[in-house]
Amino acid sequence: MATLIIATTAYNVYTAESLGIINHIMIFIETHETGPSTGRTTKSPEPSLKAAGDRSIKALLQLSLLWVSSVTQTAAHQQPLADSRLAINGIPFATRAYWMRVANQALSDLVSPCPFGAFGTAIVNHTSGDGLGELVCIGANSIGSTGNPTLHGEIAAINNCTAVLTSPTGPYNLTASQAQTAFKSLSLYTNAESCPMCASAIRWAGFKEYIYGTSIDTLIEKGWGQIRIVSADVFAASYDLSAATRLMGEVLTNETDPYFAWQYDP
Ligand SMILES: [Zn+2]
Repeated sequence: MATLIIATTAYNVYTAESLGIINHIMIFIETHETGPSTGRTTKSPEPSLKAAGDRSIKALLQLSLLWVSSVTQTAAHQQPLADSRLAINGIPFATRAYWMRVANQALSDLVSPCPFGAFGTAIVNHTSGDGLGELVCIGANSIGSTGNPTLHGEIAAINNCTAVLTSPTGPYNLTASQAQTAFKSLSLYTNAESCPMCASAIRWAGFKEYIYGTSIDTLIEKGWGQIRIVSADVFAASYDLSAATRLMGEVLTNETDPYFAWQYDP
């Protein structure tokens, strides 16, 4: 049933609000195809009424599929998610910019000043520190140095922070359970939008906030191979998870974009 496949695809991509509409479509399809023994068609036995009902269902279906199609086309071109200069969650833009620069700086701190895969991350506790917040750890793309293909900057940082949070000789000395809880209070800054693997890891960790610089769309424009699922879509599909994560996109792109602009433009 091809129509159901379309609906299922949309189910995986769009928000809970959209789900209601898509489920509605699926119910109509099932009612129409299972005949008069179930559903609405039992109340319309006359051929003329049934035919009118069929036409209505078809019209609704066509309209709904048009709607799904338009949403799909909109999602293909990501828009900025918010004015990045707003003081979201009570944290001013200057503070966001400060930590995004730390994410950029992670590259030279951990890898080299001008690496090819210039993806850096900083994980911050905004509930501690002197107003700026407290740096828990940094991470940078470590695939080249380790051979581990999963060590994107965000994954590397989550691994580093887990080690920092649970180290018996470190500043936190948390149990494994306490460390898992701690992530729900932390903010992850990354100088480029996370791939679906990293965006999923961010949701599984339950971060309080996720802030990125350069968008996946810009990375693609600059020649980077990407899995074309934006973070907003990963987040929209993760509503079953208990922790909420606030997403802020395209923060300080005037400073993050140059890190990704030269690699394929000799
Ligand atoms: Zn990634």
